[in-house]
Amino acid sequence: MRIPCPYCGERDAHEFAYLGDATPARPDPAAEDAEQRFHDYVYLRDNPAGAHIEWWYHANGCRQWLKVERDTRTHAIAGARAAREADTPAGDAA
Ligand SMILES: [Zn+2]
Repeated sequence: MRIPCPYCGERDAHEFAYLGDATPARPDPAAEDAEQRFHDYVYLRDNPAGAHIEWWYHANGCRQWLKVERDTRTHAIAGARAAREADTPAGDAA
């Protein structure tokens, strides 16, 4: 699998560290049920089959965080963005 790093170009996935689902939003700590929301945010993850937005870290390259849209069934990469620039999912899937 090759990941198109916006800074380094297309690189082998072995240069990157996978850091999980990039879609959960951090809960409001002032919410009445904040403890339950944080439990769910930290521990509960979906295991989707298909398009998925993920955090990847280019550990053996530019050391930047990326948001990558990857199909979990085929490992096809639809797009990758620098995390600092990506408030919307890679590939504008949203
Ligand atoms: Zn890079």
